[in-house]
Amino acid sequence: MKIRTILIFLALSGLSASNAFSWGSEGHDVVVRMAIRMMKPSERKAVYDLLGTHDTHYIGHWADAVKDQNGTKNWHFVNIPDRDEHYNADRDCPNGDCIIAKLSMVQATIRNHAASRQARKGALLYWFHLVGDLYQPYHCYGDKYGGNDIKVYFKGKETNLHALWDDKIIWYKNSSPTLLAEDIFNAHHRVPPTTTTFVDAAEKSHALAVKYKLRNNSNIDADYVARSWSTINACLWEAACMASTIGPDV
Ligand SMILES: [Zn+2]
Ligand SMILES: [Zn+2]
Repeated sequence: MKIRTILIFLALSGLSASNAFSWGSEGHDVVVRMAIRMMKPSERKAVYDLLGTHDTHYIGHWADAVKDQNGTKNWHFVNIPDRDEHYNADRDCPNGDCIIAKLSMVQATIRNHAASRQARKGALLYWFHLVGDLYQPYHCYGDKYGGNDIKVYFKGKETNLHALWDDKIIWYKNSSPTLLAEDIFNAHHRVPPTTTTFVDAAEKSHALAVKYKLRNNSNIDADYVARSWSTINACLWEAACMASTIGPDV
């Protein structure tokens, strides 16, 4: 990313936008809280110093708030088709305009200490958000518009499969980012290998999306809610583990 471009993005940071295409802001907030908690104190300080804020809601949500204005919508997902379990860059990430290529780019910017502080700050905001999106199964699912075109009924209301996973189930559980982060920490999930690549994570998300896909007009029953809730918790945990790995490089 050109440094000037990031400066333009930062200038737009006060704008608002809908949450319709990402973990809801609560899911992102939880990922940021857990990732920062996993860091060593020196790493945490470096992250807060660069970002200039401790506001985990802002850090997690910023990239969604600017995407409609700065043409970065495609940064938030990758379209791996239902029929194929593997990512194919030429097919799924044309012109490098997808979450996998953009995560590599922002990671490189954060690690490039010759880049301006503003550029590295913008990249770090993208990092925390996009790693979260990478672990939302339907952000790595190319059919039916990432599940947005699969209508489902949840608690008597019409919604869609993508939104169900972004935030409807999280809201239904009626926790708070603080409590949910605490619950996930206390559940002692397995820490994924530090060698996990963006492609590994995307393919895992895609497999979950295929596993949990539903027919159009499905009713969401209690069993689906229970199973998906435990998967969502594990996804948020794994996202935080990956997000925390940027620490030593900030
Ligand atoms: Zn997003
Ligand atoms: Zn989404």
